[in-house]
Amino acid sequence: MSGMNDAKGIWVFSEASDLMLETLGKGRELADKLQTELAAIVIGSNVQEKANELVKYGAEKVYVVDSPELEHFQADAYLGIIHKLVADYHPEILLVGSTRNGKPLAARLATRLETGCVPDCTRLSVDENRRLIGERITYGGNAIAKVTFKSKPQIATVPARAFEKPEKNDRNGQAVKVDFTIDPAKTHVVERKPLEVSSVRIEEAQYIVSAGRGLAKKDDVVLLQDLAKTLGGQVGCSRPLVEDRKWFADWIGLSGHKVKPKLYIACGVSGVIQHVAGIRDSKIIVAINKDPEAPIFEVADYGVVGDLYKIVPALKDALKKTLQ
Ligand SMILES: Cc1cc2nc3c(=O)[nH]c(=O)nc-3n(C[C@H](O)[C@H](O)[C@H](O)COP(=O)(O)OP(=O)(O)OC[C@H]3O[C@@H](n4cnc5c(N)ncnc54)[C@H](O)[C@@H]3O)c2cc1C
Repeated sequence: MSGMNDAKGIWVFSEASDLMLETLGKGRELADKLQTELAAIVIGSNVQEKANELVKYGAEKVYVVDSPELEHFQADAYLGIIHKLVADYHPEILLVGSTRNGKPLAARLATRLETGCVPDCTRLSVDENRRLIGERITYGGNAIAKVTFKSKPQIATVPARAFEKPEKNDRNGQAVKVDFTIDPAKTHVVERKPLEVSSVRIEEAQYIVSAGRGLAKKDDVVLLQDLAKTLGGQVGCSRPLVEDRKWFADWIGLSGHKVKPKLYIACGVSGVIQHVAGIRDSKIIVAINKDPEAPIFEVADYGVVGDLYKIVPALKDALKKTLQ
């Protein structure tokens, strides 16, 4: 694909609806700059309406692959479909939502198309040679890498909440149905279980007690829940507690929820830039960490150096007495 000079258009894909819109918004901005067409890919079952909706959010064309067999994300089938579409229509840029499914999909696609893929771009722009420039956080949040491409399609993945959702408008566009023969899936889904979701949206919480990897076991979350309950607040967490340990459904930070409570208590959270990016607007930040050098203390209004297993229950007891 590297010699693909006739490539044109910007395409976006995400199986996650909100991220699809955010990516579409960024795609629209880039398409306007390059004066080219913006297209989206929608794959699933009964997705015609969803496809029509994307036109209102800026897509001039939506390629729709609709089949009952595609109701749930399937890596091989989705990869085969997107690969075929891209190989047939030659977009110059493809933006993929950076989800657990989207990231490996983009990487596998890039390998098949013999092109590059820049993951987790928190900024995207184009230069005077129509080359995409992706900016991504690197070296544990201490630097921003600017990466560009030598080949097309230029594939980048986009994390959730990096870009704004666009407003609806009355732009004209069309949804194009594409027929595919879906190969039988190589994998079989045995069971689907929903993750626990809290009742109040964390963005709206006034008091947040947040867990980091300093919390040793899932059952210990109860310590933080007790403190949060005393305050009338909610429990949040850093990203590894969702991605690696699967204890929670959502995390706080650059690629997670941005919060602005009156009080944010970080327990066993190191406080690297990606986490701090999501809590900066908190009114008061309290950090509990046993490492006095932990970066969280640089942003904390109050810091407690010590073991969260001692401090959190003590804080809860003290608060209970004060609030009685
Ligand atoms: C593109 C990208 C986006 C990312 N986005 C996010 C994001 O949105 N949000 C996010 O959180 N992360 C994000 N990350 C991950 C981020 O880089 C860090 O890996 C993560 O924030 C670290 O989580 P942590 O602080 O819980 O764990 P660690 O960094 O392992 O820190 C654990 C802390 O707990 C302390 N500790 C251990 N035991 C105790 C104890 N008993 N009592 C008190 N303190 C204790 C330790 O001293 C340490 O400071 C992102 C990474 C990338 C590459």
